[in-house]
Amino acid sequence: MMFLLGDSLPMRVSYNFILSNSYFHHAKGRDRSVGTGPSRLGGEGSVGPAPPWITWFAEGVDEEVGMAVIAADCGGTNLSVARVDRATEGFEPIVVETPPDAAQIPGAIAELARPLASGIEAAGVSIAGLVAGGDLVWMPHRDGGTPIAGPLSAALGVPVSVDNDANLAGLAEATAGAGLGHRMVLMVTVGTGIGGGLVIHGQVEHGRGFLGEIGHTTVDPAGPICSCGRPGCWEALASGTALDRAAIELAAAQPEGPVARSASPEGPSGKDLVDAALSGDPAAKVAFEQIAAHFGRGLANMVAVFDPDVIVVGGGVGSVGEPFLAPARRALESWLNGSEHRSPTPVVAAAFGTRAGIVGAALLAGAPT
Ligand SMILES: [Zn+2]
Repeated sequence: MMFLLGDSLPMRVSYNFILSNSYFHHAKGRDRSVGTGPSRLGGEGSVGPAPPWITWFAEGVDEEVGMAVIAADCGGTNLSVARVDRATEGFEPIVVETPPDAAQIPGAIAELARPLASGIEAAGVSIAGLVAGGDLVWMPHRDGGTPIAGPLSAALGVPVSVDNDANLAGLAEATAGAGLGHRMVLMVTVGTGIGGGLVIHGQVEHGRGFLGEIGHTTVDPAGPICSCGRPGCWEALASGTALDRAAIELAAAQPEGPVARSASPEGPSGKDLVDAALSGDPAAKVAFEQIAAHFGRGLANMVAVFDPDVIVVGGGVGSVGEPFLAPARRALESWLNGSEHRSPTPVVAAAFGTRAGIVGAALLAGAPT
């Protein structure tokens, strides 16, 4: 299936920004500094003119300027690989299951990438785990880490850049999605867990290496045990895992209710709960909004620490949109110290959805080193 990044994006943003002359010119060594002129979107902290390397596609592409990269997105379940080429209007990722052994990941990417790699100049990899120096240090539900950039670079013969998937989702959203025009963008991905990425002036901030593991900040020490083994992490209370847990509890309490009735043979899931809540079931709505409120309280912690110009919410749960974001915003405002004296932090839905990782990987590959 071909997909175009222009699908359901803000009006000014299209896939073609990746293919713009200025972006690829920049990828060959231009200054990546951002402008400081009048705000594009308004509000304090917004930046002015877009950095040259994110200027989206304009009429009259210079056909002499070309660059193609390999972009890969390695999640816990699926591995996607695509060739992103300025000469085309979209790309078609190949999607396979992520190998069960972390050490097999670079080989799996190389195998999919080789037939697409003619004339490429670089490759970028987004991966759902901790990344340091181009190596995967740790990935949930996999044993150990593995070198990624080294073996993949040897296999493809080009430079390879690797980063965490939430960081690269943030890069994509800040560069061309829902965070466009803002100086400091906090990306929050809400799926099975909660991940984070902080992008300032168009660059991912890594701290000492692992900045953004925000899902494992404690919200309630008396709360449920998290996948990391500790009680009451934000992601244990406010992610898809929390929705799953609430669905199971509600189905047990109301065996004739909509959540129990719509459950698959494997049992009730968070999706059953969301569907019931969105169709107006009162009990499901209460449970769903409690989880959204937990999400908002965690956002208040993030605002207290970072005070970002915008928070972009993505991931599978984030894609529910306003029914999730509205109660989260209310909780954020009621939980944030001094909120009555400051303007509300914009909390917006991500533009790229599940494509953010692979778009970010393409951007990473094209960015100067
Ligand atoms: Zn945790």
